[in-house]
Amino acid sequence: MNIPLAIPRDIPANTPNESAPEALDRSALDACFLGPYGENDSLLEKLVVEFLRDHVYWRRNFHPEDPPAIPTRATQQPGYQAFEARMRRELHSLSAALKKSVPFHSPRYIGHMASDLLLPGLAAQLLTLPYNPNNVSEDAAPVTVEMEVRAGLQLARMLGYPDDPARDDCAFGHLTSGGTVANYQALRLALALKAFPVALRAAGVPDIDLPDDDWSAFNTGTTAGIALLGRWQRWLANQPADQRRAWRARVQAERIETLGLVDFFARHAQLSPPRVLAPVTAHYSWSKGLKLLGLGRAQLELLPERNMRLDAEALQEALERCLRERQPVLMVVAVLGTTEYGTIDPVDRVVAARGAMRARGLDFSIHVDAAWGGYLATLFRNADGSLRSRAEVGADFAHFPQPEVHAAFAALGGTDSVTVDPHKLGYLPYGAGAFICRDHRAMALLAEEADYVFDGEGAGDYMARYRRLGQFTPEGSKSGAAAAAVYVTHRVLPLDHAHFGLLPRQTVLAAEAFHRRAQQFSAELADSVHACVPFAPDSNLVCLALNPAGNRDVGHANAFVRRLHEELRCDPQRPLQMKEFFGSMTTLRPEVLGAAEMQRIAAQLRLDPATFDDAADRLVILRHTLMNPYLIDRENGISYIDRYFDYLAMRVRALC
Ligand SMILES: *Cc1c(COP(=O)(O)O)cnc(C)c1O
Repeated sequence: MNIPLAIPRDIPANTPNESAPEALDRSALDACFLGPYGENDSLLEKLVVEFLRDHVYWRRNFHPEDPPAIPTRATQQPGYQAFEARMRRELHSLSAALKKSVPFHSPRYIGHMASDLLLPGLAAQLLTLPYNPNNVSEDAAPVTVEMEVRAGLQLARMLGYPDDPARDDCAFGHLTSGGTVANYQALRLALALKAFPVALRAAGVPDIDLPDDDWSAFNTGTTAGIALLGRWQRWLANQPADQRRAWRARVQAERIETLGLVDFFARHAQLSPPRVLAPVTAHYSWSKGLKLLGLGRAQLELLPERNMRLDAEALQEALERCLRERQPVLMVVAVLGTTEYGTIDPVDRVVAARGAMRARGLDFSIHVDAAWGGYLATLFRNADGSLRSRAEVGADFAHFPQPEVHAAFAALGGTDSVTVDPHKLGYLPYGAGAFICRDHRAMALLAEEADYVFDGEGAGDYMARYRRLGQFTPEGSKSGAAAAAVYVTHRVLPLDHAHFGLLPRQTVLAAEAFHRRAQQFSAELADSVHACVPFAPDSNLVCLALNPAGNRDVGHANAFVRRLHEELRCDPQRPLQMKEFFGSMTTLRPEVLGAAEMQRIAAQLRLDPATFDDAADRLVILRHTLMNPYLIDRENGISYIDRYFDYLAMRVRALC
């Protein structure tokens, strides 16, 4: 039988010259989500039915000559019917139980980092699921592996990394289950790159211009380390075949990944385990990562902040001390959008500090943990990938972006790797984090099979190599449907200010409105409560500190805020509809804030700082994540921000 084969379309590449789609206007936002009321139900339903049918035809057209294996009369059989009944019963109870879920879609939800899901991503995910691709390699995912690699390039472009695979130094990115694993991948890559020059020296590789001693080998740095890796690969390629294998084995035997930390540092007495410097506001995934890597939590040094941003002077002092004490540094982490406060670390100052330290012999990787704030970078990008000026970005907003915030985003291109979570500000379903490194050549050091001789490699080979994705990722089997969701969403909403940027634009506008309203709230309720926004928001998370009027005691203020939060938190014991709003809670610790900042906030709240004690060692505050795109409902003239503050005022008055 001769069946004509359909030739599938190629996956469109994101070439820089590709004509950008026209800018979207605000009404495009109306089509982006299922909506708080399920407004776009028929659109989603149409898509789901259309592509489910499409999937079925695909099955039938594989070998239409094969007869149906499940007989048409099967539905009449008792066993079939009993199974269907059981399945329905269980699905109905699941569906009923899920009604207790947290209503992330609602503009009344301003708690954690979750919101509605983008329709293109949700539809792409649903449509891909029945094909069940496994992105561990192209053998199990001929289509979605390439989409994942291209999604990495889309994110690279958003960050200001080279995104043209024809370039030797093109960036590379892949998806992970979340930001935690992406941060871990950053640690793995940084350690591999840091320790590799030491292994080359130990193996005695000749003629490739190796550093003079272990200390300088361990401080080769990212760019020079990648250049050295290239020299080694070229040198190796020029050896006769039998010697090539022997040399590779010799170097492999000296690598930290082969020896383990204990043996590696035992062999190199000049070196001690390197440290990771991160701001005290860093996510706890960094603690997990250091434990997992075996370096140990003690190697994570937390640096003080100023206004919840990494204190660049404290970083400088820590680096000076490391240099003086010959303490190697693996990585400095800057956070772009802290989990608790949404603040933006001075990435530019970290990059500058590395430049200065490199000249003095202390080198390290720079990783940006942008799990939360990564997609804010779309606000700073033109469609051609160029950076927008602060004035251009700021034209839409009252205060955003502060000069420091603009400088931080502008400096991303000078860092080595970034974590971004599509399942946070990318509005996509869970199971989608991303790790992106600036220069893909370093990834050779993570490959499970050490066949990293790819001399004279051109653009085509970039895709060919990364189709064996599981070679490079911490995970093995992974969801191809998640990759399809990320890739398709970035195609529908390219990662620049005129497209995807519409979403973060809404959230920053909402945060500015929230901040203004909080100040009004503070003035209006001055007779019953002292309230303040403890630090001006850098992005779209806004905190609110409260203290009942007349009270000076921190413990009492905390009890008050906890009672307010009781009504704002998820409570599975009560019907969802009884909940007016969802918010979250965080704390300010005096040792994190610093004495001066704590004094300032205590004064605003009329609290006595002397009442911080063992029982009340931190100030409890409300935290609001303003990522719902419909917080300001123009259609009905409702501001959920106003409503929230009206509700809060009522609660405060009731509690006082
Ligand atoms: C959320 C977050 C993480 C962890 O990401 P998961 O996706 O939850 O694993 C890491 N860093 C920051 C800054 C985050 O906000």
